Amino acid sequence: MYTEDDFIMINALQHYIFCPRQCGLIHIDDVWQDNLFTVRGKILHEKVDTDTYETRGDVKTVRGLRIHSYKYGLVGKCDVVEFKETVKGKEIMPVEFKAGEPKEDISDKAQLCAQVLCLEEMLRTYIKKAAFYYGKIKRRNYVDIDDKLREQTITIINEVRSIISSRKVPTVGYSNKCKNCSLIHICQPKAINKTYVQKYINELYSI
Ligand code: SF4
Repeated sequence: MYTEDDFIMINALQHYIFCPRQCGLIHIDDVWQDNLFTVRGKILHEKVDTDTYETRGDVKTVRGLRIHSYKYGLVGKCDVVEFKETVKGKEIMPVEFKAGEPKEDISDKAQLCAQVLCLEEMLRTYIKKAAFYYGKIKRRNYVDIDDKLREQTITIINEVRSIISSRKVPTVGYSNKCKNCSLIHICQPKAINKTYVQKYINELYSI
């Protein structure tokens, strides 16, 4: 069990999957810079995370629910959690809103699964399914929270914790991802590459 001092933000998982250096810059060095993609996301979440709830029929919808897990040392917020009364009992489903479209990597799914791990601990329940609402395609996509996704997410949580505990921002060279990264001007990935190339040459020729 972790204490609140050890909690890591759930969004650190996505930052880590996108780029371990980005995760380190944000969650160790505490830096942030917006770009078009992050502003789009912020605008969407401002509309959704309203700290309100409503009941329609047999579904209660809670928005902006704060969540945590002492078992996994996580803290964050759910955009939406739906509580539905069924004949088998209460069905609980987090729904995460995304401005874009489904991603090929696991980052969004890991975020959703981490939310599920928190909700299961807080509400003493088991959640089989969760969902995304993607603004670009205006559609809800359901995700099975199966054993494989749970294992992958727990591995990522452990990797993120290890980076944050080390207090060392990982060094990652320039890649295609950098073009879409809001931290590119802070990170200076090409300068990192040059430094490393220069270091390699220096070591090679004992300069
Ligand atoms: S600019 Fe590139 S290397 Fe730097 S944090 Fe962003 S994605 Fe990672």
